[in-house]
Amino acid sequence: MDPLAAIDLTLKRDVPKGSKKSPPLGPPIEDKPTKASKPAPEPVETGGGQVIDFSLVRDTDPGDRPVVGALSRILDGAIAYHAAERYKKGRGAGNGQVAKKRIGAGYIGLECDRQLAFKYHKIPFDERAPEDEFVTKGELQRHAESGHWAESKTVDWFREAGFIVETEVPGEIGYDGGPKQHGFYAGVDPVTGKYRLAGEVDGVITKLPESVPEEFALDLATIREAFGEPPIIWESKKATDKKWKKFKKVGVRDADPKYFGQLQTCMAHMQVPRVLFSMLNLDNMKYFFEIIDFDPAYAQGLIDRAAKVITSQSPQEFARMAATHTDHRCRFCDWKQSCWEMR
Ligand code: SF4
Repeated sequence: MDPLAAIDLTLKRDVPKGSKKSPPLGPPIEDKPTKASKPAPEPVETGGGQVIDFSLVRDTDPGDRPVVGALSRILDGAIAYHAAERYKKGRGAGNGQVAKKRIGAGYIGLECDRQLAFKYHKIPFDERAPEDEFVTKGELQRHAESGHWAESKTVDWFREAGFIVETEVPGEIGYDGGPKQHGFYAGVDPVTGKYRLAGEVDGVITKLPESVPEEFALDLATIREAFGEPPIIWESKKATDKKWKKFKKVGVRDADPKYFGQLQTCMAHMQVPRVLFSMLNLDNMKYFFEIIDFDPAYAQGLIDRAAKVITSQSPQEFARMAATHTDHRCRFCDWKQSCWEMR
C-alpha cells in the first residue's frame, strides 16, 4: 500500500477572513547612537609620508573600535532595508498562488503550537531594545546569504561528480517571474483561491552518476543502496561547527524538529519518499549527509496541526509548550512577552 495515501493533502477546511498587520520591517539605517569614545589621538607620521589615523583604531578590542561599529551599522541598515524591499516586492506581496498569510514548510515543524500561530497570524514581534537583540537584521541576512552560497556550491559540486540535480521545475515560472523551485502548494483558500500551506526544496536528484573512476566504485555502490531509486529530494543547510557536530551526533530528527518537519511535509506533499539532507560546516568546510525516509504519521500530525492554526482566530487558542516563561525553549521566542501576558 502506498503510505502517502493516508495523507490529507488538500486541507479543505475554511479559514476566517481578515488578517493582522505585518510586522514592521525596519528603517533603512538603524538609528543607534555610537558608544562614547575617548578623545582621538593625533594622526602619526610613520615615515615615507604614510599617516595612520589612530582615531579609527583606538581601542584594543576590535568590537569597540568606532569604525567597526559605524561600518557595521551602515552595512546592516542597508542590507536590512534592501532585503525588506525585495521581500515586499516578492514573497511578502502575496502575489502569485500563495496567500500572504500562510504556513511555510520551513517552520511548520516549530515545536510550540502557540508560536506557530503567532507566526501564521503575523503578530508583530515583541519590542526589544537594540542592545537586547540577539542578532541584527544585517547579520541575519548575511547568514541567509551564506546559506544560498552553500546551496549553490553544493549543487555545482554534485553536478561535477555526475549527479543530475534539478533546482527548478523545467518550463515553469515562479511567483516572482523567475524559474519555479520544486515544492508544493496546499490548503487552498475557498475565498481567494490562494494556497495557505506551501513549501519549497532546494532540489530534486533525478539521476545518480552512471560511472565513476574505479577507486570510487565501492562508494557509488554505497550511494546507490542508500538513495534507492531516484527521484530523491535534496535539501541544503549550512552550519557553524557547534551546530554541525550536534547534527552529526544525533541526526536531523533529534537535532532540529523544524528542519525535520520541513522535510517530512515536503515528502508528503511532493510524494517523494526520501530526502538527502546536506549540511556544510562553514568553519571547516566538512559535510554532514543524512538520508531521511518519509514518516507518514509524523507528517500527518504536522499537517493536521497546520490546519488547526490556519482555521484559528488567535494564538491564544493554542497551549504553550512550556509551563513557565523561564523555560529555555522560550528564551529566543519573538513573542515571549506577548505570550506570557495573555491567558
Ligand atoms: S514564549 Fe514559549 S510558550 Fe510562548 S509562544 Fe513562545 S515558545 Fe511558545
